[in-house]
Amino acid sequence: MYWNKRVETISRDELRYIQNENLSKMLRRIYHNVPFYRSKFQEMNLYPEDIKDIDDLSKLPFTTKQDMRDNYPYGLFATDLSEIVRLHASSGTTGKPTVVGYTREDINNWAEVCARSIVAAGGSPSSVIQIAYGYGLFTGGLGLHYGAERLGASTIPISSGNTDRQVMLMKDFHTTFLACTPSYALYLADSLEEHGISPEELDLKAGIFGAEPWSENMRKEIEKRLNISAHNIYGLSEIIGPGVASECSCQNGMHVWEDHFIPEIIDPNTLEPLPYGSLGELVFTSITKEGLPLLRYRTRDLTVLNNGTCECGRTHVKMNRVMGRSDDMIIVRGVNVFPSQIEDVLLGIGEVEPHYQLIITREGTLDCLEVQVEVTDNLFSDRIKNLESLKNTIKSKLASVLQINAKVTLVESRSIPRSEGKANRVIDKRNY
Ligand code: ADP
Ligand code: ZN
Repeated sequence: MYWNKRVETISRDELRYIQNENLSKMLRRIYHNVPFYRSKFQEMNLYPEDIKDIDDLSKLPFTTKQDMRDNYPYGLFATDLSEIVRLHASSGTTGKPTVVGYTREDINNWAEVCARSIVAAGGSPSSVIQIAYGYGLFTGGLGLHYGAERLGASTIPISSGNTDRQVMLMKDFHTTFLACTPSYALYLADSLEEHGISPEELDLKAGIFGAEPWSENMRKEIEKRLNISAHNIYGLSEIIGPGVASECSCQNGMHVWEDHFIPEIIDPNTLEPLPYGSLGELVFTSITKEGLPLLRYRTRDLTVLNNGTCECGRTHVKMNRVMGRSDDMIIVRGVNVFPSQIEDVLLGIGEVEPHYQLIITREGTLDCLEVQVEVTDNLFSDRIKNLESLKNTIKSKLASVLQINAKVTLVESRSIPRSEGKANRVIDKRNY
């Protein structure tokens, strides 16, 4: 099933033609309307006309989060504020929020890519979609809301939070499709259990989960506990919000909707483009955006792009799940570690819950990483010996997979704070 079969299965040649056309228009737009870009081009002695093909993108300058901050709030907008019909701001996970603006046409395109994403994950006009992403300045809720309505699904704008009510509505309204962060999906699963509702009593079939990194083992856990197929969806406010890329029924990578967003992978140190299949930093150019078109925006998200055909028939390249962002990478005694790698180890072992927290301290000059993870109630009340051996298993697995020695603390079920939006997994207590 496709939402827009013609575009989703377009030939690579035709897609490239469209990308080149739109890139040219976009470059002219930013050159003429955004002083920041015009001066960057002038410094490099470049004119928009010099770029004729997306292969020439590598000649162009990058845009960074810092550029967004320096031009706060509206400095990078390419249209007059009177053309802007919606403003959002990023969740500010890593500092002051960045403001993004959409024209009517931008909202239209956003609904289009979100509708494609929902259908790729198994949604249809007859779905009942519960949108448990936050509504408000965060792009998650409203972005998917417009996509679900565009699709013609029955849309429940419940937003995040109020978990008891989520569970009640999920049952009473016969929700078939769920959209929220993966950590919140598990929180909902806990809550269903507390209410004595088994997933078989529900009509849930599928869900799209994103806005934070999650692992393959977490997918299995969500699928099992909610009895659904769980699909990854990726996006960021600077580029549009959710719906930049999304997983199809093959569940092995997210199709990037390349007629709107051109992805590149670069080496974050040398800034040189890397070929398909290499791990690096994801960079996007939003070629159809009117309000806030960004050139080579450095997402700081680390992943791999894969070309080649997909069994689903879609021709748009796929990105792997995000390993983490370069700024949530923790460096413990010189070793680079992403929370999602630790998650994968923990969930691979079983017996522990997918709720964990990483606490980093410094003792003298040495970094210490403590991994706190919840264990199931029956195991916790079990003999101390079993807990000790579980702890040791986790320790040695972490040491062999990640080359780090961590302190492992097993904690009671539900003792780690839950999040209704993006989970906060890392508490860094080191003073730099
Ligand atoms: P903020 O940067 O303040 O968190 P956003 O709300 O725009 O702002 O979040 C976008 C970021 O969320 C992405 O750059 C990425 O790091 C993360 N993200 C979004 N979707 C996913 C996903 N499916 N997997 C991993 N990370 C994701
Ligand atoms: Zn596919």
